[in-house]
Amino acid sequence: MFISIHDLEVRKLEFAESFAPGVIDLGPDLIQRTALKATGRAELLEEHHGGKNNIQDIRIVGGFSTQVELKCARCIEPVVQDLSSEYDLLYRPAGTVTREEEVAINEAETEIGYYTGEGLLLEDTLKEQILLSVPIRVLCKEDCIGLCPQCGQNRNLSPCDCAEKISDPRWAALAEIKEKLKH
Ligand SMILES: [Zn+2]
Ligand SMILES: [Zn+2]
Repeated sequence: MFISIHDLEVRKLEFAESFAPGVIDLGPDLIQRTALKATGRAELLEEHHGGKNNIQDIRIVGGFSTQVELKCARCIEPVVQDLSSEYDLLYRPAGTVTREEEVAINEAETEIGYYTGEGLLLEDTLKEQILLSVPIRVLCKEDCIGLCPQCGQNRNLSPCDCAEKISDPRWAALAEIKEKLKH
């Protein structure tokens, strides 16, 4: 859904959208399992900088919820996770913010983005918000013992022949580091 500054000049926009899995590309590591529901509103905030120098910011306030599938950080089995988050975002026309202003905004901890042209796609905003709300690391279970660093077998399912030599939990940590270095 395109949020156009020209429409917002007329009135603020209330939205309640549903996006089926696949409509928004979340990248290769994240699988969307249920419809993504997003509600909220978009409005125009005009900043007057004297003369004709007005800046039109787009503010988007709302929330989303969906369910995604990630990979366990230790055994890479799928983990299903509910995701939801609220957002209150400000988008400025690209190229209008000075360095000093940007610092001030960051200090105010307002989330700020930029749009170019006539507006922005709600889908892009949602994608960004989803990726921000995904936990960096998930486990299929608290005590997941992960893959065997030697033979690669999922040790949650069955112990392998190397199991006795590598019972030290520090090996699991090492295996994880190794796994990360590969990517
Ligand atoms: Zn696991
Ligand atoms: Zn093994």
